[in-house]
Amino acid sequence: MKSLSKVCTRCHKTKDRDCFTRNSRTRDGLQAWCKTCYKEYSAAWYTHNSKRVLEEKKKQYARLKHGQPPLRQ
Ligand SMILES: [Zn+2]
Repeated sequence: MKSLSKVCTRCHKTKDRDCFTRNSRTRDGLQAWCKTCYKEYSAAWYTHNSKRVLEEKKKQYARLKHGQPPLRQ
């Protein structure tokens, strides 16, 4: 019989299987992190990176407009 709960490897909390996103590539068919952790992680990543990514895109676009090749980084 399959267990109905799983421990998240990020927050180490035992949660219902419903709290995990499915992933057919893992042994138990679920992601290692719970949905809450993924949400937190992607929100933090976005906050941290969105501004920088946007600036980068603006710079590259400005260069393209002037016929210059994009900068390599
Ligand atoms: Zn978690």
